[in-house]
Order: sequence, then structure tokens, then C-alpha cells
Amino acid sequence: MSSNTVLINTKQQIADKIKELKAVSGTHSPSIETVLKQLPQVKIEVDACFLSNPYATDLFLEHLNKDLIETNLLRRTLEFYPPQNHDVADSISTVTGIPAKNIFAGNGAIEAIQAVLHNFLAKKIVVIIPTFSSYYEFVGENAEVVFYKLKKSEDYKLNVEDYIEFVKNEKPDTIVLINPNNPNGGYILQSDVNRIITELNFVSNLIIDESFIHFAHESEAMEEVSCGSLIAANPNLIIVKSMSKDFGIAGLRAGYAIMNENRVAKLLKNGYLWNVSGLADYFFKLYANDYFRKEYDVVRKKYIVETATFLKDLQSIDGIKTYPSKANFALVEFLNETTSFDFTISLLADNGIYVRDCSDKIGLEGQFVRVASRTLLENKLITAAFRGKFQ
Ligand SMILES: *Cc1c(COP(=O)(O)O)cnc(C)c1O
Repeated sequence: MSSNTVLINTKQQIADKIKELKAVSGTHSPSIETVLKQLPQVKIEVDACFLSNPYATDLFLEHLNKDLIETNLLRRTLEFYPPQNHDVADSISTVTGIPAKNIFAGNGAIEAIQAVLHNFLAKKIVVIIPTFSSYYEFVGENAEVVFYKLKKSEDYKLNVEDYIEFVKNEKPDTIVLINPNNPNGGYILQSDVNRIITELNFVSNLIIDESFIHFAHESEAMEEVSCGSLIAANPNLIIVKSMSKDFGIAGLRAGYAIMNENRVAKLLKNGYLWNVSGLADYFFKLYANDYFRKEYDVVRKKYIVETATFLKDLQSIDGIKTYPSKANFALVEFLNETTSFDFTISLLADNGIYVRDCSDKIGLEGQFVRVASRTLLENKLITAAFRGKFQ
């Protein structure tokens, strides 16, 4: 058997296995752990599927080691009950400047999303697609989901006028904006977010998911943006924030939502007492520390700059289209006959690079993968591999 046949066989095996894993993981990608365990022959060199800042993970681990492991305080963190939800909210309040009574701490943002959809959505939700699938998958049977489709001809960027018109016609009680959006990275300027909030103030639940907002910026200085402060004047506003991507700590499960105090009280009255683990509480306390935030800001900006270079490099490759993104990833479309599934497999088998095949994302027309920005070195491997496949 020639080495070529071996390679083809391996690729076929990988393809079959990934199809099988995908079938059981639904609309989320199989985790890297699952892929590695099931496919010992594959070596993943670069995980460009998960969307996190690797430098922030390093920074967090450094502190965790110093504060909990070397001091032996880890035992206390694991042995005892963690603080209650409202105590965790105090730490988040220190960072955001939002009163703790307006903060619901979540076991990841996903828990906040679930809590909001299950408790406050009444009859009808408008979801912009393509999107993070939980916003329609978590909707119960009694509510209707209406999709607003971003237009390919507009590079999947939100057309604010058209969207406002659409929502006025549909008259939903709940709407969701993800800013920047996942999976395309499209960004809505804060001035446009303000317009949407003003024009659509009849909507009872206006959810804004800022899970990738640390990577977006509107100023030269790359200052963080957020519409958290608008909560005081807009009781219908709900801001969802995951820590998983910007701090690279998805396994910790840390997130929160900012909302009207009556809503927080309603949620906490019937549950969520110790939903945030001791380790996630440690993270929030660290985050509340000025010194840590200064260190974090350095790695945040470094990563933003490197990501911008990475996106430019991808944009310069012929045969693919890299969509404009203000997040830490890019949506890439194949302009030739390549299918996203075949490309994902061949990139994994040949280059050890794992990207997100977007063939299950509703609202996309064509063949797409989503590629995360990683470390400088990994980004170079990714662009070199893409170039290699399209030359
Ligand atoms: C990843 C993601 C979440 C979930 O974040 P967790 O904090 O890990 O639960 C929520 N919203 C969007 C848009 C995401 O991409």
C-alpha cells in the first residue's frame, strides 16, 4: 500500500468518526477532548474551533497557581460551599459599576440565557440568524421563534433600519442582539445599539449578548465598550456576558446577566443559590482586583492587535472570502467547489488544525468554516495551511 492510500484511508476514517461524533453533539461542535479520545491517530496541533484568548488563559492560570494551589487554599475552595449568587454579584458589581441587585451570576452565560428565556419570554422571540443556536433551541414549546436573516449581499452585517422595521411589524415580546455576532463577527456600533433600544422600546425583553465585546472597540485606544450602563434607564434591557471567550476559561463556567432588579429577584427567589462554583467565584474576585484587570487589559489588547493581522492575512488568500469581523474569529467562505466538511477533515488530517464546520448553522448560504484567532505562532500555522490548500 502506498503512503498515499494510507493517508486517504485515515482521512476517510477521520471523516466517518467526526460525522458520528457530530451526530451526538447536536448543534455544538464535539469538544476537543471527545475528538482526541475517539481519534487517537489525529494530532490536533491548533484548536481554532474554540474562540478564546489563549494569553488570558495563561494569565489566569498564573494567578490560580499562586493564589490557590501554592498556598493550599484550593482545598478550602473545593471542600466548602461557594458564596451565594448575590455575593458573586458583588464582585461583578465592582468591575462593572452596575449595582449588585441588577446582576444575575450564572454557571456560564448559557445558564443566564436559559433562565431568561424560560422565565421572561412570553409568546414570540425574534432571533437574528446565523446565530449562537441556544437562543432558539432553548425556547419552550409555547413561544414562537421568528428568524430575521442577515443578508449575504450585505456581508451578514446587520442592516439596522431594516431590522427595526422587521421587529416593528412582527411585534415580538423578546429580541436578541449578539454583539459582535457569532459566527460572523459582525459588529453593531454603540450608536446603532442605542437607536435600536430607543426605537424598539415596546419589546419587553431586549437581550444584548456581549460575550465577544472585549475584542471589539471603537476607539484608537481600544477601550472596552458595553451598554451595561443603559440598564438603569431601560428596564426591558438584559445584557448577557460570558467570561469563557475573553478570559479563555470555558471549563470554569463563569458568566452573568445584567437586568432589572425585579427580574433578578424573581430568578433568585426560586433557585440558583450555589450555581456559581468556588473556582468561578475565585475568578470573579480576581477580576474585581484592579491589578489583575490592568494585566488583563495588556493581554486583551495584544490579542486584538494580533487578531487584526491574522484576519488581514486570511483576507489576502485567493479562493476564499473572509468576512469582516470585530470578534476574535472569522467566518470564511469557500469560493470554489470545496465543501466545508471536506475542508475541515483535510485540514485536521493534513495540518492538525481544527476549525468549525458551519454547515449546520442556519442562515448561511454557501460553504463556510469559522476560524478562531489563537497565539501568534498558531495563527501563522493556520494561514500557511489555508494558503497551502488554495494555491
Ligand atoms: C459561547 C457563547 C455563550 C455561552 O457562554 P458560556 O459562558 O460558556 O456559557 C453565550 N453567548 C454566545 C454568543 C456565545 O458565543
